[in-house]
Amino acid sequence: MKIVYVTGLGRSGTTLLDILLNAHSQMQGVGEVHKLYGFAHVLRNPNPQSVDSIGNTCACGAATIWDCPFWTAVDAELTERTGRGLKDLRLEARDRATFERDNLDLFRAVQAVSGAAYVIDSSKRVTRLRWLLKHPEIEVVPIHVLRNPKGRASSVKRRKGQVFRPTVQYSYRSLRLFALLFNRPHLVVRYERLAAEPEAEMRRIMGYLGLDYEPAQVNDWANSAHHNLAGNAVRRATSSEIGLRESWREELGWATRAGIDLIAAPGRALNWVKEWRWRDAAKG
Ligand SMILES: [Zn+2]
Repeated sequence: MKIVYVTGLGRSGTTLLDILLNAHSQMQGVGEVHKLYGFAHVLRNPNPQSVDSIGNTCACGAATIWDCPFWTAVDAELTERTGRGLKDLRLEARDRATFERDNLDLFRAVQAVSGAAYVIDSSKRVTRLRWLLKHPEIEVVPIHVLRNPKGRASSVKRRKGQVFRPTVQYSYRSLRLFALLFNRPHLVVRYERLAAEPEAEMRRIMGYLGLDYEPAQVNDWANSAHHNLAGNAVRRATSSEIGLRESWREELGWATRAGIDLIAAPGRALNWVKEWRWRDAAKG
């Protein structure tokens, strides 16, 4: 069983990468699947027109996963194979045996329904990645998505008003991923490069995964069916335009930028070292 695990931080381009990967015929994204329990425990919405929040929707537009043909097919497949449905899975179980059984069962059911070579898990969490990497029957390809900490801080600031907290988070997450991935083959994808040269970057990534690049990944990704759980608004985009947001240059003052650079420096250094260590692996 092969999965691609997208890690990094939110507001860093992880959803964009997830969607470009998902547009490949041999890949099936499930989004932030560690949140499945919550999605599986909402009741089917009797009146889909009344949905005003996107809290429990599937990326395909279904009001809940129980209204989505893909997830209901996964549930049926899972129930047939294991006698347990999506509601019974504990993907975040603290005991190893349950964690390993339930995640493998889910990924196998997703693979059976989609026919894809890889399932993409975009949960991002480091602990989940560590546990999956130890799974004897799952082969995990980690992809660490990075964004300029000033660009990310500016994006978080627009939503939450915070600037330095996301930067501390950046350095801390970088340290944890350094500890976990320094000695493991993995890919580092920089959001700025992905947004500026999506085709070249997707060719490199698909080469690493051993699959052919498909032009629809960059030109027509909005039209591919996606059933991701959670993630940001990119997943509901109706046009396949990819834009690089560089507005942080105007939005952040010089003192704020200098502060972010200082706080982010350790994380940045670790990321460079890690990326350098695996640069040849990433050439495919
Ligand atoms: Zn769906």
